[in-house]
Formats: sequence, C-alpha cells, structure tokens
Amino acid sequence: MNYILMGPPGAGKGTQAKKIVEKFGIVHLSTGDMFREAKKSDEDIRKFLVSGRLVPDEIVVNMVKKRLEKDDIKKGFLLDGFPRTVNQAQELDKMLKSENIKIDAVFFIDVHFEEAVKRISGRRVCSCGASYHVNFIPPKVKGKCDVCNGELIQRSDDKENVVKDRLDVYKKQTSPLIDYYKKTGLFVNIDGLKSESEVFKEIKKYIEAK
Ligand code: AMP
Repeated sequence: MNYILMGPPGAGKGTQAKKIVEKFGIVHLSTGDMFREAKKSDEDIRKFLVSGRLVPDEIVVNMVKKRLEKDDIKKGFLLDGFPRTVNQAQELDKMLKSENIKIDAVFFIDVHFEEAVKRISGRRVCSCGASYHVNFIPPKVKGKCDVCNGELIQRSDDKENVVKDRLDVYKKQTSPLIDYYKKTGLFVNIDGLKSESEVFKEIKKYIEAK
C-alpha cells in the first residue's frame, strides 16, 4: 500500500495525510516536516522555507532516497509533499524501480487558488503537530491547542507575502505533475472543496476498494 498525496498549498494534505496513515497503519513521509525539522540546524534550508521556494531537487531526492531505504516503509507509505517537480517524479520512479516498489495511487486534492489562500492565511499550528483554522476549525480556546494546550502560531511560510510566492512556485513547478501522473493511470482526483471528513471518506473508499 504505497501512495502519493498531492495538491496545492492549503489543500489540506497534512490533515488528510495524518488520517490516512493512522487508519491504514502506513508510514507518513512528509518532506515538508523533514525540512521543518532540518531548518532548526541548517541555515540554508531555513532560507528556502521562509521564502516559500523549493529546496533544490538534489537535496530533496537524496533525503527521500535515504528515507526509503529504511525498513519501516515495507508496511506501506504515504508520500506527502514529494515529488514537487517533474524531475523529482522521474528520480522517484528510478528509486522505486530499483527497489521494486510500486505506487498504488496518486491522490490529488483539488482546490482552486482563491480557496487555498483563504485556508492558508487562517491556518494556525501547534508544535505537537495539530493544525487549526481561525474560522473553519477554531481551537476551543483562542490561540491554544486543544490537544496539548500549547501556543498556536502561524507558520512563517503561511504569512501573506510568502503565500503568493508559494502558489506561483506551485503553478510553475508542481502543477505539471498532474499531467505526468494522469499518463500513468494512477491519478485520482479528489474534490478538496468538500469537508475534511468527506474528503477523507472518498480517499478511504478508494483505498478500501482496491
Ligand atoms: P510543505 O509542508 O509540504 O508545504 O513544505 C514546506 C516547504 O518545504 C516548501 O515550501 C519547500 O520549501 C520545502 N519542501 C517540501 N517538500 C519539498 C520538495 N519535494 N521539493 C522541494 N522543496 C520542498
């Protein structure tokens, strides 16, 4: 059971990814999470993240390659945030081929850019991993995490000036992947404008039918 989860920033990939890996007991491979951890000690990585630019392919590809060598991925995995360029997808294909691993589906959470901006600008996160939205998924107590009572913050790359750049990067570099995966027959379009639970239900239905 190996999947790729795609969609523009703000589509709800992180939220859906958590639900999928929990439900199906597979490993969550989020390159964004890996880089958010790496940026604490790596100034170069931090610069890419705060500007909303993509980390160079070579760095990302090597990181994913190493991660895919670990034993735990044998129980299945969900790639979240990778690949993000056609070159990364081609490199992933090579890695998978050499390890004899197959991808079962590429889920694309489809939301238009106007909605994406609305979602990103209201997103607030906790260091425990929980995520909220000031209007759509507010915490019980303003600014505090329901799970651990931690302080909620706005990700630096969710700030308004960076969001536009992230969407531009997505349009230019990541959206060509839609056609790339449509050609493989693995592409599954999911209407991301539906509620969080309906989106999950659709993905779950697809996985369980296989
Ligand atoms: P995300 O949480 O997936 O939105 O990723 C946060 C940031 O990490 C992105 O804006 C990029 O700077 C970096 N990043 C994550 N995944 C990739 C990737 N596959 N290729 C290049 N940069 C990435």
